[in-house]
Amino acid sequence: MKAALFEQVHQMTKVDEVYECEICGNKVKVMESGDGTLVCCGQDMVKVTG
Ligand SMILES: [Zn+2]
Repeated sequence: MKAALFEQVHQMTKVDEVYECEICGNKVKVMESGDGTLVCCGQDMVKVTG
């Protein structure tokens, strides 16, 4: 018996979360929640804690 190992990571942004780009330092604040990740400089932006 085989189990499918395709597990989709479901990323979602939430209102008021702040994301930062580790490369250029850009910061963005989420105004509206949505599916997917925020990308800057070709890589995912990192959520700033708080
Ligand atoms: Zn950037």
